[in-house]
Amino acid sequence: DPPAGAAVPTPGRLFVLSGPSAVGKSTVMARLRVLEPELWLSVSATTRTPRPGERDGFSYFFVSRERFAELVDGGEMLEWAEFAGNCYGTPAGPVAQRLADGQNVLLEIDVQGARQVRAKLGPLGAGGPMLIFLAPPSYEELARRLVGRGTEPEPVRAARLAAARAELAAEPEFDRTIVNHDVEAATAELVALTSRSGADQPS
Ligand code: 5GP
Repeated sequence: DPPAGAAVPTPGRLFVLSGPSAVGKSTVMARLRVLEPELWLSVSATTRTPRPGERDGFSYFFVSRERFAELVDGGEMLEWAEFAGNCYGTPAGPVAQRLADGQNVLLEIDVQGARQVRAKLGPLGAGGPMLIFLAPPSYEELARRLVGRGTEPEPVRAARLAAARAELAAEPEFDRTIVNHDVEAATAELVALTSRSGADQPS
């Protein structure tokens, strides 16, 4: 037992946010940083190369394939997956530390990763993480966003659309769905789910 008088924080709650690419995840995450700075956003490790403006240790920890394999083999990843030819994973230590300190934590990861977290930590009703799915208003709207975003050649676009369709099919596995009609409204819904008081509500 802890010594009398020692403050033992209530453990924080874990949230997982997933959704197909081009649904607007990164825009919502950027707004979330501003609107709910007390929510800790996990920084993943990845083998992909940084995009312009991305900083090591902030956007991601950019690591080699060798280093990534070491982290996985050493049991240091809470979950990991291969997405579009690169590896992505959540370092377990910092997440466990923040939760133990009483802070709420959010992982923005793909559907495969969300499944692993669920399998490891159990369903929401048994104290497991809350899985939140960010959905487009429709598949057609997502297709428009994917196409409108890019300069990718047709085969790449087709592959991304197929991946997006597969990810949309995973939606029923999630505890909550937020439809991203509008960034401000979607972020507000996310804040309502993840903020301390909101998270304490039964549903
Ligand atoms: P991007 O390369 O566009 O930054 O990310 C590609 C995909 O990888 C996105 O769906 C993103 O949510 C997912 N992702 C980012 N970090 C992780 C992670 O740590 N684990 C898993 N499983 N997916 C991740």
